[in-house]
Amino acid sequence: MTAVAYKRILLKLSGEALMGEDKYGINHAVMGRIVAEIQEVSKLGVEIAIVVGGGNIFRGMKSANDGLERVTADYMGMLATVMNALALQDAMKLVGLVPRIQSALRIEQVVEPYIRGRAIRYLKDGRVVIFAAGTGNPFFTTDTAAALRGMEMNADIMLKATKVDGIYTSDPKINPDATRFHQLSFDEAITKNLQVMDATALTLCRDQKLPLNVFSIFKTGALKRIITGEDEGTLVTV
Ligand code: UDP
Repeated sequence: MTAVAYKRILLKLSGEALMGEDKYGINHAVMGRIVAEIQEVSKLGVEIAIVVGGGNIFRGMKSANDGLERVTADYMGMLATVMNALALQDAMKLVGLVPRIQSALRIEQVVEPYIRGRAIRYLKDGRVVIFAAGTGNPFFTTDTAAALRGMEMNADIMLKATKVDGIYTSDPKINPDATRFHQLSFDEAITKNLQVMDATALTLCRDQKLPLNVFSIFKTGALKRIITGEDEGTLVTV
């Protein structure tokens, strides 16, 4: 069996990743590709917990500007993550993975509530746990939820799947001279304001010494390369 560098991971999948090149919603072909990448590492015996975002359907901050109360908009954003979790669950079942969704907001006819001990048991049993509804609180992001659940699950690393293959000195889409960091400290990421993820999430990871790897989910095999300890994307550590 291939040796793995991380036994238990927390994968953060943004809504944007699920959208692919579309402008809105879920692209099912893209979802299928992402699930295939996840299945590859599941076959290695890695325990996988996932936090899904909701930005492909609803983003609280933006809609708050359009006249909704911020808290209302944030709850709508959290509900959007539940929709993504449901779609992800079905895509996983199609390939034979056994997913379980747990939600930070109670909607028990649809998904079970977040219960830490049960989630850990699922992971040990080889199920893929999908955490929905972020932290369950407005004014937070699913990046912060990912840091939080990563810590609660005692994950070995948090993997942030994006469309870009790591953290760059500046936006590579705007600046062709931007270069990728192979490795970075949390303090550098925070003080250089590198737009990796919000400061709350970065600070949580730093304080609890949860390493973070930012990588592209669209680069075939990238997730597996990280798991087997190869240099892929950007690794952020204390
Ligand atoms: N959200 C929230 N609390 C949380 C997580 C998310 O209020 O703990 C809301 C917030 O409005 C956010 C939306 O849900 O804009 C979708 O989450 P996020 O923007 O993090 O999704 P992503 O960018 O990863 O797709």
